[in-house]
Amino acid sequence: MKILVLNSGSSSIKFQLFNMKDNHVIASGLIEKIGESNSYAKLKDIAKDIIYEKNLAIKDHHEGLEVMTSLFVASNILHDLSELDGIGHRIVHGGESFTESALVNNEVIAKIEQNSILAPLHNPGHLAGIRNAMQESGEKVPHVVVFDTVFHQTMPEYAYRYALPYELCKRLHIRRYGFHGTSHHYVTKTAAKMLGIEYEKFNAISLHLGNGASVCAVSNGKSVDTSMGLSPLEGLIMGTRSGDMDPAIITYLLNLGELKADEIDAFLNKKSGLLGICGSNDMREVVAKMEHDERAHLAFEMFCYRIKKYIGAYYAVLGRVDALIFTGGIGENAPYSREKICGDLAHLGINIDHKLNFAKASGARCIDADKASIKTLIIPTNEELEIALETKRVIENN
Ligand code: ADP
Repeated sequence: MKILVLNSGSSSIKFQLFNMKDNHVIASGLIEKIGESNSYAKLKDIAKDIIYEKNLAIKDHHEGLEVMTSLFVASNILHDLSELDGIGHRIVHGGESFTESALVNNEVIAKIEQNSILAPLHNPGHLAGIRNAMQESGEKVPHVVVFDTVFHQTMPEYAYRYALPYELCKRLHIRRYGFHGTSHHYVTKTAAKMLGIEYEKFNAISLHLGNGASVCAVSNGKSVDTSMGLSPLEGLIMGTRSGDMDPAIITYLLNLGELKADEIDAFLNKKSGLLGICGSNDMREVVAKMEHDERAHLAFEMFCYRIKKYIGAYYAVLGRVDALIFTGGIGENAPYSREKICGDLAHLGINIDHKLNFAKASGARCIDADKASIKTLIIPTNEELEIALETKRVIENN
């Protein structure tokens, strides 16, 4: 069974082709700078370790998918998208309309379109990807949509409601949705398997720490709370996003004339976070500068402290925690932040082994010390594989 996973953004398409017999990646690639004169397309044949590239102007997603198909043909991996057994699409926002992944039909497309208001930067690109991939593959290939929000649809109402006027929130669908659901689901499933605990009985705190970052509390295999909200802005301090803050700061800045209404979005999403504190949004740079740069040190301390507060909160929510899981670019690769976050949490039963934490290792692994009562794991996330597995499951159940 061959499944293609597509992640279509507003100006890019990332793709991976899986053989679902053993879940291995046959090819991966991307199309970037769609709509510009210097677009770029790349496909890597994983088994042969050969890269196929094209530099040409790609006008839109339609041309982007044509170029992707031409790279598959050039590499002799596929002759046509109609040879696929399914195509899985990553969708950022499913709103309240989707509580599980879905087979694409007109009704599903209409619902994703309605949810575009909640994710104006993402959903329109996803829709362009779906429509054009459907044209390119022909009618026989099933398409499945897998949402970043779905895993969190199990949150209880007291966790997802905001304490704002109730009727207004209901009418405008204002609530916590949460994101990174595909990643939190994948790493918690993998961790449960590694520890030999039935997923339906598994409790964990999952930390997805990348440029975007979120925490998820998983109780008996279900998300019961998460740090991102209506949008991916809430919660942890991120590369360029503020995370939690007093909303009155915005009123204050508006009243002072320091900020205009149309600047709020960029202020909170692009100019804040680690970047706003120390001028770098890349954790590697922050760590490298930390010793001689006070602001970089402060940014690092703030980043870790915010995570620590969420661990405490979700520990209280869960009561029993089987595992603390690190994933994402920072979670997987930045031992300094893992050490700082876990450093003085021994009273909660979290204790990591210094050597294991700093060991040059890759792959899923435990880093907790003998005396720890909570397992601490690093699980490399694999959102594409999770989307491929979901796509397979949905196709087989229909
Ligand atoms: P996203 O998918 O949200 O764009 P990633 O999961 O790729 O982000 O994570 C990007 C972050 O991971 C960056 O802050 C980067 O600095 C950090 N990162 C990647 N590798 C390392 C490393 N070896 N050490 C420290 N941080 C790293």
